[in-house]
Amino acid sequence: MKVRNLLLSAGILLFSLVSCAHPAASGYADSRYFAMDTVVTLRLAKDGVPDDALKSAEAGFEKRLTELDTLYSVHNEESPLYHFNHSADPLENADGRLVDLLHTASAVSLWSGGAFDDTLGALSDLWNIPGGGPVPVKDQIREALGHTGQSCFTLTEDGAVRNDPDAMLDLGAIAKGAAAEELVGLLRDTGVPYGLVSVGGNIGCFGGEAREEPFKIGIRDPDDEAGVIGYLYLRDGFVSVSGDYERYFEEDGVRYHHILDGRTGYPADSGLRSVAVWSTDGAAADALSTAFFVLGCDRSAERCSDCPYTCGAVFILSNHHVRVTPELAGSFELTASGYTLDPCE
Ligand code: ADP
Ligand code: MG
Repeated sequence: MKVRNLLLSAGILLFSLVSCAHPAASGYADSRYFAMDTVVTLRLAKDGVPDDALKSAEAGFEKRLTELDTLYSVHNEESPLYHFNHSADPLENADGRLVDLLHTASAVSLWSGGAFDDTLGALSDLWNIPGGGPVPVKDQIREALGHTGQSCFTLTEDGAVRNDPDAMLDLGAIAKGAAAEELVGLLRDTGVPYGLVSVGGNIGCFGGEAREEPFKIGIRDPDDEAGVIGYLYLRDGFVSVSGDYERYFEEDGVRYHHILDGRTGYPADSGLRSVAVWSTDGAAADALSTAFFVLGCDRSAERCSDCPYTCGAVFILSNHHVRVTPELAGSFELTASGYTLDPCE
């Protein structure tokens, strides 16, 4: 049984800036942190920015990241969600950001028909993918599935109430994107003209409108840990990737990855290796990448245009086809050989 090192396996390999009109403007301040169970990277443009402004932006970033790490965690024993998941108490007087996130999660879950489902904590806990399994027996899966679904919880104005004592929330597929969005919001007010944030591969960029060239964001090749399949060229918004190579364990030669299909109780098997979603909303980009991975290319592409969040997607299929929705058709460049690029009809 093998557990992959998640630190090396973020879906978005790198974020790089296209060299702009001034090649010497390759001046960025990069910093790395570990939070939210993953690697967080910050890249700030430093040309023309006073040193103390840069330092203060980095310090403010780190402080907010530490706060979000506890606010959105289901593992930290000090966190409100840990307490909610492991006690009979309702979640009350919760931080407004957490309440908003729970409402967004519920909305995406309903919109996606449960493909994204923040209430499947009992199932993800049973699978214990980061801990290396083992594969649960069918009866355990059936039992856990009985404690998932939006009806297990009632959201309130300041928190949530559990209707099923064995149900648990899992914000693992939305919290990092929400954090990326909040961190980008913070950076916009620091005087730094542009930059990028990556929270475990959930990327947010700011200041791109004022740049001559867009940001160039590499999307990982699912078959090659060190390679990119191509690039997204973006000026704003958020990109999240969900893939079967991010966290998984192997048992008897079968790979069991961490994105679960709430209809079957098993890791999703929709013909995708990964999907990258761009959205103007960070939490939505994260949640939708998970939903689209579960739904598969055709069903997701159909639904992109009626999504309540502005979004577009690049689907990397197991058969080495890459499909792009119209929203991103002009923004994606395939660079890896061995793949065929098709538009989504
Ligand atoms: P990553 O966390 O690697 O960025 P995702 O954003 O796709 O990947 O989130 C996967 C995590 O979300 C899992 O580790 C699990 O905690 C949880 N999860 C798994 N399947 C689902 C699902 N169908 N809907 C919502 N959350 C899920
Ligand atoms: Mg996600």
